[in-house]
Amino acid sequence: MKRRDLLKGMAAISASPILTSYALEGNLVLGKHDALIVVDVQNDFLPGGSLAVSDGDAVIPVINHCMQLSAAKRLPIYATRDWHPADHCSFVENGGTWPKHCIADSPGAQFAENITFPDDVIIVSKGADSDKEAYSGFQGTDLSDQIHAKGIRRVIVGGLATDYCVLNTVYDALANDLDVVLLTHAIRAVDLHPGDGDRAIKSMMERGAEVHDGLILAD
Ligand SMILES: [Zn+2]
Repeated sequence: MKRRDLLKGMAAISASPILTSYALEGNLVLGKHDALIVVDVQNDFLPGGSLAVSDGDAVIPVINHCMQLSAAKRLPIYATRDWHPADHCSFVENGGTWPKHCIADSPGAQFAENITFPDDVIIVSKGADSDKEAYSGFQGTDLSDQIHAKGIRRVIVGGLATDYCVLNTVYDALANDLDVVLLTHAIRAVDLHPGDGDRAIKSMMERGAEVHDGLILAD
């Protein structure tokens, strides 16, 4: 797909002021030490889900496009997912913040129907302990070991939601000595408090994440 065609197709996606002022222009060229991390694109986080992120499904075509290019270069693609027991501590009835969501094996925990993962996608389940919250794909998983074992130096990150699981996954990637590119058109925020998403992006950038509009082109 040509960059201008992709841009045309994405004209409906509105960028917040912080994105338009900081997002890098130009092509992001994928290299052999890159991997893609797709965060929690699960039914419960999409419109109609129990913890729906507004406009959350808008990330899917951008991520699908990035995955095609990553797969063409045979780069690893990791897909994280919330995979909670029914009595998880993050649920309101157990003293947490959120309505019940992404209960393991339930329809709400399934990945979006129209996200097209390659056959060799590596699924990383998190939040499976009743008494531990896990916003980050690195928390309580072997994601760091897997990534370092493959010699990956940079991760390209998109998914849901900007102000929770994307934020904490990016923090942990940086803490694990990885370079991070955040795909700004491939993320959406919960915005429990207005502006949370923009603040999250700013915070990730302050810690060293690079931002890109997500319109990656093959070189
Ligand atoms: Zn959760």
